[in-house]
Amino acid sequence: MPKIKLDKSKCIGCGTCWVLCDKFFSAGDDNKSTLKGSSNGQELEVDEIGCAQVAVDTCPTQCIKIL
Ligand code: SF4
Repeated sequence: MPKIKLDKSKCIGCGTCWVLCDKFFSAGDDNKSTLKGSSNGQELEVDEIGCAQVAVDTCPTQCIKIL
């Protein structure tokens, strides 16, 4: 299964990912992005990548990866 990986240390909290892909992303308590349903907010296994690819392609700091 593919895995979405988010590097919070590079996130600037711009909101692009959770606006374009609220299935997987939301605003965390730290005002940075967090992966919904992830224990640490930074790694999530998914059945299908779906809109996460749009988030990868549009994140201004390139802190989202799909492995
Ligand atoms: S698009 Fe990138 S920088 Fe912006 S909130 Fe999402 S992860 Fe953070």
